[in-house]
Amino acid sequence: MAPVRYIQGEMRAQTKNLVVGTAWVTAGVTLLYLATRGPKYAFGGPNTATLNRDPRMLLPSFVARLNLLFARMRALGWDPYLNEGYRTPERAAELAKDGSGIVDSMHSYGAAADIRSESAGWSNPQFFVDLGRESEALGLTWGGHWGDANHVQAVSVADQPGLRVAGSKTWALADKFVQQHMPRAA
Ligand SMILES: [Zn+2]
Repeated sequence: MAPVRYIQGEMRAQTKNLVVGTAWVTAGVTLLYLATRGPKYAFGGPNTATLNRDPRMLLPSFVARLNLLFARMRALGWDPYLNEGYRTPERAAELAKDGSGIVDSMHSYGAAADIRSESAGWSNPQFFVDLGRESEALGLTWGGHWGDANHVQAVSVADQPGLRVAGSKTWALADKFVQQHMPRAA
């Protein structure tokens, strides 16, 4: 029995070494990735299974304005983050099914962003008061007017049908529409 026990012990040690080694390699690769990636964007964060937080998935003209909004909010001492940006057709359908989302939302065209405070979440109403004021000062449209205080979009409600038409053709046409219809910053 002794040799068998010896082999089992050796195998356990080998497995442990493999696990520890893999953990070190994973940590190294992650650090290397983060180092090469750099702070390319002023905001955004990791995507979750359902929430897309990649600013690159939003229309460039809208992102340029969002960058200004984030700078203004940070200047006021807030810690804003992008909770949801672009919405895939799959997620839009899911939200529509359980009645919690608008079909054909501006998120689906890369023209809306849900912004919250990293530390306060929904708990501090002042964050959303400031978000509404600052986004409107920048010519953006704030969802607080229809009960969606964390929502900011590129064009007014009146211009939504136009953006849907442009966006159903190409991404570039949607961006052009936003450039032409997004009100100028005050
Ligand atoms: Zn939204």
